Amino acid sequence: MKRIISYLLLVLLVAFAFWRIYRPVRLWEAVRPMMDTVVTVKLCAKDSSTAQNLLRGAFEEMERIDRMMDSYSSTSEVAVIDSMAGKGWVSITPDMERVLKRSQYFSELSGGAFDITVGPVKELWRFDSPNPTIPLPGQLVPALTLVGYQNIQLEAGRVRLLEPKMKLDLGGAAKGYAVDCAVEFLKKRGAKSGLVDAGGDVRLWGKKPYGGEWQVAIRHPREREKLIRVGKIGLSAVATSGDYERFFIKNGKRYHHILDPHTGYPARGCVSATVWTRTATDADILATAVFVLGPEKGMELVERLDDVEALIFFEKDGRLEYVASQGMKDKLSGL
Ligand code: ADP
Ligand code: MG
Repeated sequence: MKRIISYLLLVLLVAFAFWRIYRPVRLWEAVRPMMDTVVTVKLCAKDSSTAQNLLRGAFEEMERIDRMMDSYSSTSEVAVIDSMAGKGWVSITPDMERVLKRSQYFSELSGGAFDITVGPVKELWRFDSPNPTIPLPGQLVPALTLVGYQNIQLEAGRVRLLEPKMKLDLGGAAKGYAVDCAVEFLKKRGAKSGLVDAGGDVRLWGKKPYGGEWQVAIRHPREREKLIRVGKIGLSAVATSGDYERFFIKNGKRYHHILDPHTGYPARGCVSATVWTRTATDADILATAVFVLGPEKGMELVERLDDVEALIFFEKDGRLEYVASQGMKDKLSGL
């Protein structure tokens, strides 16, 4: 009898060990409102406690970045940098250094279409308040003199805003960077596959459970229930900038939150710009840059860069049209 019991125990133990090793990977998901949008994290893991810890950690990572880069908070790192505008150098974290470097790089590439010093102009429009307004020229002109990425001096571990009253606005890059940080965190903790989506700023890695590809569809900019599907292009991050995210309509005209840093008014060339590339930070920045440049110059920039693809919607003679980069043309369906 004793023998049979030990035998049974052994069988159970072996079965348990097998199950631990070979149990299937499952898909886990969490959704939270964050960074003025809805953030979804999906990942593959074998057991619930590992998955829940990873999901919590990914959100904490994004919250950390959001707190650091939020222009509206007086305690953020951005606020500290702004408070020293025209006064001197400020020590910055490695995260801030990375975002500022990437922003400056794309400001130069886009001839200033992307410019994180739009802060003083953005403030005048009050897009995030219940009653946004069109600024008066008398307000816009002085605010525009404070816009200019050339007036950001960046060195290893520190930054300096050259003009007093300059203000940084990382709204066009921080969400993408937060997504990248969440993905890096999850990869480092051993998640073999997953997806982080911050309201359309998406990055994915690995394959879905049972080997399928992650699919990211793009919403049509005017028919929001319509989805545009994209075939395999081998780029793991995508972001969209659109005139429909934050806007108001006055006298039949749409005013939205993506500003042309040269005029201080909403950029008029595009309805939406979707950019695929390797990191969510670059995708986020490039989507804004391309949107401001407009379909022609925007697509020119995209075609000049390696590992970058784009889909741009724009209005022509009252009709909605689109243009896709070379690598995308035969990959789109549902248009
Ligand atoms: P969303 O925040 O809807 O994803 P974007 O990524 O295009 O859209 O970011 C828009 C935000 O970027 C604006 O709310 C503003 O904070 C900032 N911004 C607006 N215009 C510019 C610009 N020309 N260059 C850099 N940042 C900009
Ligand atoms: Mg952007």
